[in-house]
Amino acid sequence: MKQSLIQQIEAICSDRGVRLTPQRRLVFELISKNKKASSAYELLEQLKAVEPQAKPPTVYRALDFLLEQGFIHRVESTNSFVSCCSFGEQKHFSHLLICDKCGNVVELQDDNLIALLDKNIDKHQFQFSNHVIESHGTCKNCSSLEK
Ligand SMILES: [Zn+2]
Ligand SMILES: [Zn+2]
Repeated sequence: MKQSLIQQIEAICSDRGVRLTPQRRLVFELISKNKKASSAYELLEQLKAVEPQAKPPTVYRALDFLLEQGFIHRVESTNSFVSCCSFGEQKHFSHLLICDKCGNVVELQDDNLIALLDKNIDKHQFQFSNHVIESHGTCKNCSSLEK
């Protein structure tokens, strides 16, 4: 875990005047350390190793906070969480490439794609709350292992 990542979110939290509690910080560290997207259950198990008294609401509250601040994304199709690759903006939409073999998740950001989606949604006068853009398949690593 790169120290700078934690320092970055600490700085953003103090700028925004929100509190990065030790538990929130720990859940974020676990998500960034895990190679695969982490489920709330996996996070709870990992958290318990450090804080035996941790309960599911502890994890859910930390996840809500991290999602709200834009530090992590929810992988809707697998109900798991990954850390965001750029937490500059409070909220942004990303395109996730999800490997079904190793569980690796890559985050892409294409403003043109998002603008196109917004335009199409506008045409229907639809009040949207969230875009979920996820592509499933096999990552480069896994597909080269098959050969
Ligand atoms: Zn992101
Ligand atoms: Zn893979």
